[in-house]
Amino acid sequence: MNLLYGLNDQQLQAVTSDSPIILNLAGAGSGKTRVLTHRMAYLHQEKRVGTSNMLALTFTRLAAKEMKERVMALIGTAEGYKLTVGTFHSFCVQVLREFGYLVDLEPNFTIYDEEDRTDIIHSCVDELGYKKIKVRDVIDNLYKDLSGLDQSLARVIEEYGYRLKRNNAMDLDGLLVSTRNVLESSQAQRELQNRYRYIFVDEFQDTNDIQFEIIHLLNPENLFVVGDDFQSIYQFRGANVRNIIEFPDKYQKCEVIKLERNYRSTKQIVSAANSLIKHNLSQTEKALIADREGLDIRYLIMPDEDAESRKVADLIASESKSEAWSNVAVLARTNRQLQTIKDVLDRRNIPSLIVSSQNDVFKKQDIRKIIAFIEVAINPQDDANIHKVINFPNMRFTDLDINNLEFKALDQGWSLSDIMKIGTEKEKAFYALLESIKDRVENIETARDVIEEAIHQLSLRIYYDNEGLKNRQEDVSAMLLEVERWQNVQESLGEPNGIYSFLKWLRTKDIQEKLVQEKVDSVKLMTVHASKGLEFPVVFVIGMNQNVFPSKRAEDIEEERRLFYVAITRAKDRLYLTRPEQREAYPGGPMALQVESQFIQEIELEQAECIGQSQGRTVGFGWME
Ligand code: ATP
Ligand code: MG
Repeated sequence: MNLLYGLNDQQLQAVTSDSPIILNLAGAGSGKTRVLTHRMAYLHQEKRVGTSNMLALTFTRLAAKEMKERVMALIGTAEGYKLTVGTFHSFCVQVLREFGYLVDLEPNFTIYDEEDRTDIIHSCVDELGYKKIKVRDVIDNLYKDLSGLDQSLARVIEEYGYRLKRNNAMDLDGLLVSTRNVLESSQAQRELQNRYRYIFVDEFQDTNDIQFEIIHLLNPENLFVVGDDFQSIYQFRGANVRNIIEFPDKYQKCEVIKLERNYRSTKQIVSAANSLIKHNLSQTEKALIADREGLDIRYLIMPDEDAESRKVADLIASESKSEAWSNVAVLARTNRQLQTIKDVLDRRNIPSLIVSSQNDVFKKQDIRKIIAFIEVAINPQDDANIHKVINFPNMRFTDLDINNLEFKALDQGWSLSDIMKIGTEKEKAFYALLESIKDRVENIETARDVIEEAIHQLSLRIYYDNEGLKNRQEDVSAMLLEVERWQNVQESLGEPNGIYSFLKWLRTKDIQEKLVQEKVDSVKLMTVHASKGLEFPVVFVIGMNQNVFPSKRAEDIEEERRLFYVAITRAKDRLYLTRPEQREAYPGGPMALQVESQFIQEIELEQAECIGQSQGRTVGFGWME
């Protein structure tokens, strides 16, 4: 396959340029990601750069997966496999497991997500009795200089840091900060610089300052970054769009390459995107042209959310008659809206998938550990799983303990659990826990009983209570409910309801889900944030009402506008915008009339086909269901 075939002049320049530092600043769908992946393949094939010397970073797991697949398609899986392509967070975890000891970090740390972090901050605030402190303010000031800060705020931050330390845990920002600190040690920096000679960053507009520092520390000599300031949508979480705009000032040697032709979407869609973004005052000038003629954008107004969902389902069914379900994506501002549409699609037997990692309770970190713990109890020789569970919050095994254990195991040729059986007090206690679970299993108790026993033996409920980890508490309850549901089904079928059958079901469930995600054709449902970088022939953006999109909670209308820009530029051929005229004022409350999103006016819909009525203004066919 000729790598360079079909690239336009600017793209060719970006792929083959000899400049060590390149910024590719360009609009949506202009081929930035394509250029990035082609350059990786080009450097490997033409410039003999080893694949293990390349590091590519982006923001979502899905985007990272796609990126790796695109490069593999160009250079083959055997070589492509060695590439490090990941999200910033996954990369940091990898660095810290290896070099964390340089900053006093035990490499088997637990990771606290956003929900955990909020829970713990709440709990610190409660414990200290500072009722006036807002969680948001605490988050905004974490990892900053505490001097000059309000005393109670500083005290909460201190307490939070202490809790993380005590639990050998890190939050997502902490991962970045510690990685930066690791890179400030010359030993780690040298090793990592040697390993990653070429660095690529996609969606660079969404980097925050620490992420930029990490990139710079990793390799100030060889950077290829691509992005679009119009698509900066994470400033609310600390992303700094100046990182991309001022990039050429920071690196004097930088070559800036612009791409102006959009290959993804039709003329109608690109023109709507252009008229929208003009309303942002703080935007740079950037051209985006498209010449593919296509269908008009369709704007639909339905009486309520239920009718809106049913209409979307109808249209998906008719759009997909001759095409694949996976050609269609439904985007919404919030996760809640996706569930509504999912229910309707399920009822209509239209296969669909909510693209988000947060949905499956069995994928949660602690739940996976509980299951691993039971697997170890059943099979004590399972050293791999022991590693997963040994750093359970209240196990208190230090790295030194684990190193000693491993050393002894290796020395004697025994499994870790065999060593524990006759080891230190702590090890023996752990082994006793495993034994008690095993007893339950052998007494043929139900899956739920065994799992509950494991939770009890691990004192997880008490631990969550003490730490104020409400979400984890809820995860455990949700998981037990799922197990019970499974048991009921098994019982009604006359099938076994014990732990062995359950573990088997869990394993096949995973495989089946993977198949659904990768192979089975389905409509994709996701938030606009999750859709960044992706493209679909047919896109629906639902809930186009003021206070929904733009969100009521948004502090920055320009960021909301950029978010809508991202949404509409995902569409290749057909874009539907829909809105319910009425909605429940609050869950279960009376219906209230909704105001149309200001963005509808801003995209200058002359070329759109409007269906329905909008606040007395009759548009299009004036047709309503
Ligand atoms: P986004 O800003 O949304 O991330 P992007 O700039 O990364 O967009 P890509 O996803 O790389 O854009 O490309 C958009 C689409 O255009 C892809 O389907 C890609 O294959 C196609 N494309 C890019 N360049 C060309 C080209 N020179 N000829 C034909 N198709 C192209
Ligand atoms: Mg892209």
